Amino acid sequence: MNYIEPHAHMVSRVTDDYVKMTTAGCQAVCEPAFWAGFDRSSVAGFHDYFCQLTEHEPKRAARFGLPHFSWLCINPKESEDVKLAEEVIGIIPKFLKHPNVLGIGEIGLNKNSRNEMKVLEMHMDLAARHNQLILVHTPHLEDKLKGTRLILDVIKADQRIRPERVIIDHVEEHTIKLVLDTGMWAGMTLYPESKCSPARAIDMMEVYGNERVWMNCACDWGISDPLAVPKTALEMKRRGHAEQTIDKLVFQNPLKFLSQCPRFKLPL
Ligand SMILES: [Zn+2]
Repeated sequence: MNYIEPHAHMVSRVTDDYVKMTTAGCQAVCEPAFWAGFDRSSVAGFHDYFCQLTEHEPKRAARFGLPHFSWLCINPKESEDVKLAEEVIGIIPKFLKHPNVLGIGEIGLNKNSRNEMKVLEMHMDLAARHNQLILVHTPHLEDKLKGTRLILDVIKADQRIRPERVIIDHVEEHTIKLVLDTGMWAGMTLYPESKCSPARAIDMMEVYGNERVWMNCACDWGISDPLAVPKTALEMKRRGHAEQTIDKLVFQNPLKFLSQCPRFKLPL
């Protein structure tokens, strides 16, 4: 099986996870900027994190022949401090020139607060000005449906942003249709405990189809499984899905979305 892991926080994983992922058939891993399990205290903390995402983590992955790509932003969990967010957004453009950077993400909302909205709009403007792909995080803590609606309204209001260049991640049964109806992509995050299980993801695909949809494991600092995507592929096989259907979901779809960024190239 070949698959792409389009959303994985590898900085919080051990090197053995790279071995497991490449053994399972992973052809590329993409890492959005996110929370580190604690709030960073200054713009310098984000500068170092962006260096980690663009220089150090790609080298760790390269030891196993795995291409590593990244997305940059100040994540919604740390977006309450608008002044800090402005400073962090100010240093992002120089990192956008890096050959492994795919776009702006994962931006979005966490508690659906006013300040988070302000920072979301700042990121949208940054992405539009630099013609970047966008990866969006939808809230788990507060109302996901309300947060998803707020996010979609902000994106739709910006005429510069093309919907097919945006992926809305962590969709669930009550938000997936809302997202797909806008022409944007939908990401299903597979978690052992919270968010979406492999069975629920396959159910959603069976109901809503497999166009403009991808699956990811997130594998952050919390309880998560870096092999959730290949395990879900095996579960699809068990349910009788055709090889092409599985390949489309775990490989062709992420390849199609990510290839909109000319930097996303696989050594196949
Ligand atoms: Zn994430």
